[in-house]
Amino acid sequence: MAKGFFQVPTAVNEPIKSYAPGSPEREAVLHQYQKYFNGNEDIPLYIGGEEVRTGNTRTMAPPHDHQHQVGQYHLAEKEQVEAAISNALEARSAWADLTWEQRAAIFLKAAELVAGPYRAKINAATMIAQSKTIHQAEIDSACEFIDFLRFNVEYMSQIYEEQPESAEGIWNRVEYRPLEGFVYAVTPFNFTAIAGNLPSSAAMMGNVVIWKPSDSQVFSAKVIVDVFKEAGLPDGVINVVYGDPVMITETVLSSPDFSGIHFTGSTFVFKELWKQIGNNIHTYKTYPRIVGETGGKDFIVAHPTAVPAQVATAITRGAFEFQGQKCSAASRVYLPKSTASEILELVKKDIASFNPPGSPEDMSNFITAVIHEGSFDKLAGYIDQAKNDKDVEVIAGGGYDKSKGYFIEPTVLLTTDPNYTTMETELFGPVVTVYVYDDKDWAQTLELVDNTSEYALTGAVLGTDRYAIDQATRVLQNAAGNFYINDKPTGAVVGQQPFGGARASGTNDKAGSAQNLLRWVSPRLIKETFVPPTDYRYPFLG
Ligand code: NAD
Repeated sequence: MAKGFFQVPTAVNEPIKSYAPGSPEREAVLHQYQKYFNGNEDIPLYIGGEEVRTGNTRTMAPPHDHQHQVGQYHLAEKEQVEAAISNALEARSAWADLTWEQRAAIFLKAAELVAGPYRAKINAATMIAQSKTIHQAEIDSACEFIDFLRFNVEYMSQIYEEQPESAEGIWNRVEYRPLEGFVYAVTPFNFTAIAGNLPSSAAMMGNVVIWKPSDSQVFSAKVIVDVFKEAGLPDGVINVVYGDPVMITETVLSSPDFSGIHFTGSTFVFKELWKQIGNNIHTYKTYPRIVGETGGKDFIVAHPTAVPAQVATAITRGAFEFQGQKCSAASRVYLPKSTASEILELVKKDIASFNPPGSPEDMSNFITAVIHEGSFDKLAGYIDQAKNDKDVEVIAGGGYDKSKGYFIEPTVLLTTDPNYTTMETELFGPVVTVYVYDDKDWAQTLELVDNTSEYALTGAVLGTDRYAIDQATRVLQNAAGNFYINDKPTGAVVGQQPFGGARASGTNDKAGSAQNLLRWVSPRLIKETFVPPTDYRYPFLG
C-alpha cells in the first residue's frame, strides 16, 4: 500500500521537433529509416514473457515501395490466442494489486523513452509502416503517444482522488478496481499513438490486456512493445497477437473472462463486434465495457464572411495531410457561391505546389502512399466513377498509380448533388468533395451538413460573422464530437482537445481523458461505521 498521497509530475504536451535540414533529429531519423529499410525484422507474438514464433508468417513492406520487404511477422493460431488469454489472467492478480504509483512510474518511464532514445525508432518505423511524412510521424508516434502516457497518468491520479462525502461516524471511500477479467484492445493502422494508447490506458488502470494491432501497423507496433518492455511492464500484462482478425476476435470474445473492448477502427467492424458481444452475453462473468471510436465523414462549412485563404488552408491541410487517412480528415466541404471560385483556385494552387506522391524518406514530399492495395483500389474506383458521373467533376488530381507505391493524387471533386456518394461515404484517402451553396441558403446548408452523413466525428465552421458562427454551433451540436471554429477539423492534441465522436462515429469516450479511463475501472464503495448500532428499533416505533 502507498504510504503517501503522491502527486504525479504535471503533464505537459511534448514539443514537436522541426526536422529542418541540418537538425540532429533529421539526421537521426533518416539514419534509423535506412537501417529499418535495409533490415529484416522478424516480429514474434508476445505472450506472457515469451516471444512466440509460429513459423506461419506474413511479409511487411512499406506502402510507398510495396515490393521491398522490410521483414515478416508471425501469425497466431487459436492456440496462441488462448495462451495469451491464460497468460493475461495469470498476470492479473499481481498487476491489479501493484500500487498505483508503481504502475504510473512504468508509463511515465515509457513516455521518457519515446521522447528520448526511442524517438527516432518509433518515427522511422511509422514512416515505413504507414508511409507518414516525418512531421506526421512526429506528431503521432512521438508527441501524441507521449502525451497519452503522461496525461493519462495525471487523469488516473485525479480519478483516484475523487472520493465521496462521509457523514458523522462513518467513513466512505471508493477504490477504483480494474475490471474483473481482461480487456481486448483492437487498434487501427492509422495512428501509432492510438495503437499504444488503447492497450496501455486499460493496463494503466490495473487491467491485463490482449492487444491485436492492425496488420498494416505491426512494424511500428513492435517499437511500442520494446518501449513497454524497457519501461518495466511486467510479463503478461499486455499480450500481443496478430493474424486472422475474425478468428482472434471469436476466440477472445468467447472467453467468460472477457470484460471490455477498447476498439478504434471502422464503423462496420465495430458494429459487428458489438453484435458478437451481445450474442455471447450469457457467457460472460461481468457486463463487458464496450468502447469504440470509429469512422467519420468530417465536414468544413464556410460562411460567406469566411476569409478565402483561411478556408483553402483548412481544406488543403485538413483533407490531404497523411493522404486523408486521419479519422478527422475533411472529406466534404460546403462553400458559398460568392467565394467558392477564389477558395478552390487557392486549393488547386496548393495542390500544384506538392511534389508528386512519393516516399516519406524524401522530406520535400507532402503526400506519400495510401496504406494498402485494398484502399488504393477502392479510392481509384471512386475516382473513376466520378470521372463518369454527370453531377460531379474532377477539378484537381484524379490520377493514381500503384506500380511502385500505392499513390493516389490529392483529388478535389466538385458536385452539384449534396448527397453524391462521396459526400456521404467514408473513403479514407486524399479525396475531398465540394458542394457549392447559394449564399442565401446558409441556414438550409447547416441542416444539410447535419443530415447528410451517419457519422458525427469532426467538423469545422469558418466565418467572421459571430451570429453565423453561433448559429452553426447550435445547429451542428450533434454533428461532430470535435467541433472547430475557424480551424481545420484535424490535429486534436491530448490534454487540449479530447477526441471522439457520436452517432455512427463511436461511443465518444474521448481518448486521452479521464472519461476514457473511467471505463476501465469498476469502483467499489467501502462504507465503514465506527460505532455500529446495537438495537434495530428506530425512534418512530415509539
Ligand atoms: P479497420 O476497421 O479495418 O481495422 C481496425 C482493426 O479492426 C484492425 O486491428 C483490424 O485488423 C480489426 N478488424 C478488421 N476486421 C475485423 C473483424 N471482422 N473482426 C475483428 N477485428 C477486425 O480500420 P482501419 O482501416 O485500420 O482504420 C481506419 C478506420 O478507423 C477508419 O474508419 C477511421 O475513421 C477509423 N478511425 C477512427 C478513429 C476515431 O478516433 N474515431 C481514429 C482512427 C481511425
